[in-house]
Amino acid sequence: MGGLFLGMVLLQVVPGSIQSGGGILIGLGLLAVLIMLLVTGLRMAGLLLCPGCHQKLEEIGAYCPECGSHGLKPGGWFSSPHCPTCNRKMRRNKGRHYTIRACSHCGLYLDEKGL
Ligand SMILES: [Zn+2]
Ligand SMILES: [Zn+2]
Repeated sequence: MGGLFLGMVLLQVVPGSIQSGGGILIGLGLLAVLIMLLVTGLRMAGLLLCPGCHQKLEEIGAYCPECGSHGLKPGGWFSSPHCPTCNRKMRRNKGRHYTIRACSHCGLYLDEKGL
C-alpha cells in the first residue's frame, strides 16, 4: 500500500517537475526511493524463515501451511497444491491466497492467526 501511495504521489509530481524544469532531480529521487521500498518489501516477504528448520515459509513443502498436517498434494501446471485434511487449495496468483499458520517444510505450528 505504501508503494502504491508513493507511486500516485510520483505521478502527480513528475509532470509538474518536467514543466518547471527544475524539479526533475526530485522526481528521480522519489523514483529511487520507490524502487528501494519495492525491493525491500519483496525481500522481507521472501525472508520469512521457519524458526524450526530455517526454510522459507512462503515455499510449499510436504506439510499444509493452513493446518500443519502432513500429506499435502503438490500442485501441477494447472492445479494448486491441495490439502486433503482441511480441504484447502494453496492458490497463488498475484499474491498468496492462503494463510501460513504452520511451516510447510517441517510442520511446526507457528501462529493461530497466521500470516
Ligand atoms: Zn520448518
Ligand atoms: Zn490443511
